[in-house]
Amino acid sequence: MSDPLDEYRKKRDFRVTPEPEPAPPIARDDATFVVHRHEARNLHYDLRLEHGGVLCSWAVPRGFSYDPGEKRLAVRTEDHPLEYEHFSGRIPRGQYGAGTMAIWDRGTYELVKARSWDEAVARGEIKVQLAGRRLRGEWHLVRTQQSKNSWLLFKSRDLYAGPSRDSALGIDIGAAPRAPMSITPAAMHWDSEVAGFDDPAWVFEMEFDGLRCFATKDGSTTAVQGVDTVPRGVNDALAALRCSRAMLDGVLVALDGRGRPDRGALRAALAGDGAGITYYAFDLLHWEEFDLRPLPLFDRKAALRTLIADLPGVSYVDHVTGSGQALLQAISAAGLPAAIGKRGASLYHEGAHSDWRRIAAEPTTATAGPTEAERRTNRATLRTKPTNLGKVYWPAEGYTKGDLLAYYRSVADVLVPHLRDRPVHLNRFPDGIDGKSFYQREAKEGTPEWLRTAPVPSDDGIVPHHVIDDLDALLHVVNLGSIDLHPWLSRVSTPDSPDWAVLDLDPKQAPFADVVRIARAAGRLLRGIGLRPLLKTSGKFGMHVFVPLRPGYTYDHSRMFCEAVARILVRELPDIATVERLPDRRDGKVYLDFLQNRRSQTIVPPYSVRPIRGASVSAPLAWDELERDDLSPQLFTIRSMPARIGERGDLFRAALEDRQDLMQAIEALEDVLRGR
Ligand code: MN
Repeated sequence: MSDPLDEYRKKRDFRVTPEPEPAPPIARDDATFVVHRHEARNLHYDLRLEHGGVLCSWAVPRGFSYDPGEKRLAVRTEDHPLEYEHFSGRIPRGQYGAGTMAIWDRGTYELVKARSWDEAVARGEIKVQLAGRRLRGEWHLVRTQQSKNSWLLFKSRDLYAGPSRDSALGIDIGAAPRAPMSITPAAMHWDSEVAGFDDPAWVFEMEFDGLRCFATKDGSTTAVQGVDTVPRGVNDALAALRCSRAMLDGVLVALDGRGRPDRGALRAALAGDGAGITYYAFDLLHWEEFDLRPLPLFDRKAALRTLIADLPGVSYVDHVTGSGQALLQAISAAGLPAAIGKRGASLYHEGAHSDWRRIAAEPTTATAGPTEAERRTNRATLRTKPTNLGKVYWPAEGYTKGDLLAYYRSVADVLVPHLRDRPVHLNRFPDGIDGKSFYQREAKEGTPEWLRTAPVPSDDGIVPHHVIDDLDALLHVVNLGSIDLHPWLSRVSTPDSPDWAVLDLDPKQAPFADVVRIARAAGRLLRGIGLRPLLKTSGKFGMHVFVPLRPGYTYDHSRMFCEAVARILVRELPDIATVERLPDRRDGKVYLDFLQNRRSQTIVPPYSVRPIRGASVSAPLAWDELERDDLSPQLFTIRSMPARIGERGDLFRAALEDRQDLMQAIEALEDVLRGR
């Protein structure tokens, strides 16, 4: 048999490349795997499994995914020497594989479901159990018919499988040390009570009234500190965590009749059968064989969110970033006790520490009538003095203009970032939803000087548009009678380059259940081609699917993309979905409107109120909320939204942060179109 490393040697000049020259093989016990992130002419990942004294290697152009449905091409390449396990560096230009080679993950692996490596290779089916920092659980390599070096790599369905991501926790935990899971760590606490504050380096969570305790999963055993029998729902959700070992920090909570956390209710539930108890998890201290306490809070929380499965017993405590005052207002309005501010970069310390601070709620009455609304709206110094606060805007509900202003004030911190830096059109209802309304693109004379306007070139010359960059600007346009808001899909400085692609599911007469079915299919399709779409109700009767875009795309790109998505959905659900533009020809089907992806078209942002009965608002949804039995657009109103934001934070934050690559998605979509 020839030396398996001949090809490796032949391709390289060891006087030039810093890569290791193979030494004679050494016998080792546990098999190692390593993944290199290889930024060569094309970025790819090299998966290398130790076998027979060498590292058997595959190049994986699109990397790894924990979604078992996402099968990735893996091209078998030449064997590499064992020394390569520790290699990282820059391969000089002109050499084979020129570029940078970085260790992306490393750990041990086991061959499973095969008697021997040779048998598995002969069958063209290699199953391995990986124990790394990013790659965990069972992975599957299957040789394709195309050529002997062409394989498919995908995640097996095991407890690590779940939403699409390339690392078990969705983040890099390279800095976490290996350590046994501590049985009784010391909890971190806030050290002082402070007034509400805003600081972009801090995150703010709701404080829950209940039993603060650690919850653990270790193999098939679950435990909750201080509780003899883990309540069944909590036990099920801990068992379903996407890992084999974890320690969470959080609060055991039961709700009273009004849906608020209540210690009495918790005591009663613990004494009884434990029904209705939820563990609200806000931190992750340990995962598998790693101590996560030396990682920043941002990372620990991102990891925690990834681990938690969609079961009622364990809930993730979300946060708002930067805007403590907005959260405080929301929880005060909802009658909850306090918010906890935490420095985003802070490590998990033992005991009281200044990186955590408690912010007690302000006393308010729960039901805000006009007087209350006036009081709240007038409290701070505003640049616009609100007028006609008592004017009734929603006659059926009795909601006033003051209520509308109070709502917008309370959600401003999560809403304004979605408006900032975009031209906005106004839709003004000075006499409420039943009165006359008028649509206004142009910022007219009389617009106060402090309010930003942007000159936007259009068919009839340069038209100044309003830009809502802050609370003052928001309240100014609302005081003008704007109920809903209409920002562009692109920004002032790049009006021809959208940063959101939007598919509008518009039902007109069709039932909401059809909208839900189509939204589900849209989510599946978009996630299947590697995107991370966002979902919200329109606030009326439809839904909006958003994909935030990387800079540089044009409206032609986003429109063509959304059109292709719409056409695939119509093909999949022809009885309920249509792209027919004429309403008369839609046959009661949901209209998939991709034409809004155009310059000077607008879309209501999340949290925008709509001028219809019920004062419903556009509500961001987690995708799994499509399965809620009670889901209806009327669930989210100016009354219910602030508390929801207090609980869940800004579910649409990724629309600003997670800007995605459309080119790969378009290619993948073409495959879908061709494949069926
Ligand atoms: Mn490579």
